[in-house]
Amino acid sequence: MTKDPVCGKRINRGKAHAAVEYNHFLYFLCCPVCQAQFEKEPRRYAKPDIGVRVKQGVQ
Ligand SMILES: [Zn+2]
Repeated sequence: MTKDPVCGKRINRGKAHAAVEYNHFLYFLCCPVCQAQFEKEPRRYAKPDIGVRVKQGVQ
């Protein structure tokens, strides 16, 4: 389980609408609306304790 950083809803990673990488962390969004909101203002929503760390060197 992870948390949608925009709406705060708990979501299953496998069922998330989208996964967006920002600043070496991956964030899972529940729907297109949350994804658009996150991509518009990632700095506002991105919190490392919610995101999943992306291994360095992997694109
Ligand atoms: Zn959401």
